[in-house]
Amino acid sequence: MNPVVALVGRPNVGKSTLFNRLTRTNDALVADMPGVTRDRKYGEGRIGDRAYIVVDTGGISGNEDGIDAAMAGQSLQAIEEADVVLFLVDARAGLNPADEMIADHLRRLNKAAWVVVNKTDGMDPDVAMVDFHGLGLQGPLPIAAAHGRGIRSLIEVTMADYPVVEEQERLLELESRGIRIGVVGRPNVGKSTLVNRMLGEDRVVVYDHAGTTRDSIYIPYVRNDQDYTLIDTAGVRRRRSVNEAIEKFSIVKTLQAIKDSHVVICVLDARDGLSEQDLHLIGFVIESGRALVIAVNKWDGMTQEQKDEIRRQLDRRLVFAHFADMHFISALHGTAVGDLYKSVNEAYASAMHKWSTSRLTRLLQDCVQDHQPPMVKGHRIKLRYAHQGGSNPPLFIVHGNSTNDLPGAYQRYLENRFAQVLNIKGTPVRFSFKSSD
Ligand code: GDP
Ligand code: GDP
Repeated sequence: MNPVVALVGRPNVGKSTLFNRLTRTNDALVADMPGVTRDRKYGEGRIGDRAYIVVDTGGISGNEDGIDAAMAGQSLQAIEEADVVLFLVDARAGLNPADEMIADHLRRLNKAAWVVVNKTDGMDPDVAMVDFHGLGLQGPLPIAAAHGRGIRSLIEVTMADYPVVEEQERLLELESRGIRIGVVGRPNVGKSTLVNRMLGEDRVVVYDHAGTTRDSIYIPYVRNDQDYTLIDTAGVRRRRSVNEAIEKFSIVKTLQAIKDSHVVICVLDARDGLSEQDLHLIGFVIESGRALVIAVNKWDGMTQEQKDEIRRQLDRRLVFAHFADMHFISALHGTAVGDLYKSVNEAYASAMHKWSTSRLTRLLQDCVQDHQPPMVKGHRIKLRYAHQGGSNPPLFIVHGNSTNDLPGAYQRYLENRFAQVLNIKGTPVRFSFKSSD
């Protein structure tokens, strides 16, 4: 499970700048779900051998009421879910009364909270930090987010107590069996109903120890001789009684489940149509390189007209997820759940497949023969051989000359041809180009 880092601080101290440094893309997931505040941003990243999820809690305004409200409400859930809290302050502005109030709140939360002094560029770090020693939190640590300075050691120091990527993977293997399936989606789309259906099937045997601890969200089981582990973000197995309230929907848990899955089933609600949040979630799955199956739920009781309309909408807006199988299901009635497994199994097989270097190089040469890379600056880009660099998602490493100049359209051509010829289904594929000049 990836540790969660929350960024807290007044407006303008540099939280967004640090967020962008820590995450791989600027394509943050912005929360706009019911019951979730709008100005929180979520992203994932990795520096060295540390992978994490980052939450920018949004600015905590300077006045006392604003701070109290933020620390009781919007920022609090993010802070509570975080493993590491980074409290940003501004070296140029110096210590501010609002900083002291925020620090007060953080001290009371009993969390690993670090003071991070930003904008130390052009300053002596010791001088920059002198104001901030008395806040009673860990640190201070100097950075210059805008210049990328101090970021690596910030991560190394504040995450020292959490497992590195390799160790995370080892623990995940220990706690799970077979194909890890994450069931994700907005609140009320039918995740719990689907999870119960999947685990309640006659042919499913859930391993005894599953769900015995309240924290255990991995549920290992066997179905038709295949081992699976369901990652239960809906909290189905953690409810001690049917009446116990469902845990608050958590984007952080959703993102962690995606990262931990081999295959993600993204559940949509046919009656609501496709929302921005659905698109963000699917985008996050693809960005994480996970295999994907789309389940359009609540298909029961829809009129033909409604069905046609939603099909049109999905075709139009899910082009970027074209590789994923889509099923129209009813979790309530148990319709088409078996079809989901067929797609999950296929997607997993594709995501984990290993291809030989000779097979991939032959395919690359066929692609080049059918359609030469273009001339750039008077000479032709050469693609020589290909080998596999990873799985889940399949990563193909292509060696050649001047590959930096390879146009996006040609990369997409390779992606499509490789997926088609190698019969890759349900998973994104990645390419990496290595140039010997
Ligand atoms: P947020 O409101 O906390 O998210 O702050 P922003 O990330 O939007 O940054 C506020 C301003 O501070 C912007 O103009 C940034 O360019 C600037 N800034 C951020 N980091 C640094 C830094 O390391 N050094 C300097 N000099 N300016 C920075
Ligand atoms: P979750 O918040 O995503 O876990 O959603 P739930 O599984 O709790 O379902 C939310 C509501 O949708 C409940 O009232 C379910 O009975 C209903 N629901 C779930 N699946 C279906 C379905 O396939 N058809 C219909 N008509 N209702 C469903």
